[in-house]
Amino acid sequence: MFDALLITKPESGYRCELAQLDEAQLPASGDVTVRVDYSTVNYKDGLAITGKSPVVRSFPMVPGIDFAGSVTHSDHPDWKPGDRVLLNGFGVGEVHWGGLSQLARVKGDWLVALPDSLSERDAMALGTAGYTAMLCVQALQKHWAEAGVAAGSGEVLVTGAGGGVGSVAISLLAGLGHTVVASTGRPQEETYLRSLGAAAVIDRNELGAPGKPLQKERWIGVVDSVGSHTLANACASTRYGGAVAACGLAQGMDLPASVAPFILRGITLYGIDSVMAPMAKREAAWGELARTLDRAQLAAMITEIGLADAIPAASQILAGQVRGRLVVNVK
Ligand code: NDP
Repeated sequence: MFDALLITKPESGYRCELAQLDEAQLPASGDVTVRVDYSTVNYKDGLAITGKSPVVRSFPMVPGIDFAGSVTHSDHPDWKPGDRVLLNGFGVGEVHWGGLSQLARVKGDWLVALPDSLSERDAMALGTAGYTAMLCVQALQKHWAEAGVAAGSGEVLVTGAGGGVGSVAISLLAGLGHTVVASTGRPQEETYLRSLGAAAVIDRNELGAPGKPLQKERWIGVVDSVGSHTLANACASTRYGGAVAACGLAQGMDLPASVAPFILRGITLYGIDSVMAPMAKREAAWGELARTLDRAQLAAMITEIGLADAIPAASQILAGQVRGRLVVNVK
């Protein structure tokens, strides 16, 4: 028997609770069993646990879009008992039982070998949010390399700065020598955001309302986890030839923008998806995180909670009340 969160959808309602499950109940479609050490609460887990968006498409469901742990049993040629692994996405926690559980059975093709220098806890301190931040930063770096833009030659905007993607993006970009401007709705977190490397902090209301199609050119690049008017304004104020990496929708799914920044300033909008990203991209992102992330800054981003605490935490993350990252110790 093992502990897991379990989402059920009775005739009326939607419920998530801590349950005791039998190993025989794990999905037969998986070919590797993993003893999970740590998982996390990402924004999408918040949607799944509360049922606020139809993220979960099969019931009953164990939520948790990511986890890190060790293989206990494998019918997959690439993995053997004792291997340290992590997983992000691939529909885990949505259509396939996920990581907010002491045991998981998944497809071996979805697993990434945990880099030697990353502990299971550090891997989930980063979690899907941190890995997505790295995908955003790598898209910008590739763009800047091709465009001949040097670090420090202009400001980089990070929106949703106090959240998981935003916090990791600030740390990564500042570590690369960029001048990072953090946009937040929580001015009380200015000291925290500066400790991660932000050079300046702006009020998210400056970007959150309808704006002009073209605005003063400011950013050489943007990491946006917010969407909606914020993303439209970020595009409208990106410098000629600059780039925006869009990964989130914390403000909204809409994009009330014009083509002006694209056709008059040649800016590029990169869509960032972590869920179905190819394995080579995942391994490159995790390898780079293991090599470059400032561990002291990572420690400052984390709040560690237990499995049952993930249920109330789900509502808090959707309300924008979580600073940095929630790492779940499932042991
Ligand atoms: P968090 O909740 O940790 O961070 C989101 C942040 O956005 C909040 O902390 C808050 O920052 C800001 N925010 C919240 N509500 C609003 C609002 N109404 N208007 C403007 N800003 C707001 O979530 P994550 O960092 O885990 O995820 C961020 C986004 O990225 C989510 O939409 C998530 O679904 C998406 N995502 C996408 C992935 C992909 O594969 N494309 C993978 C991972 C995440 P502050 O208080 O500082 O303003």
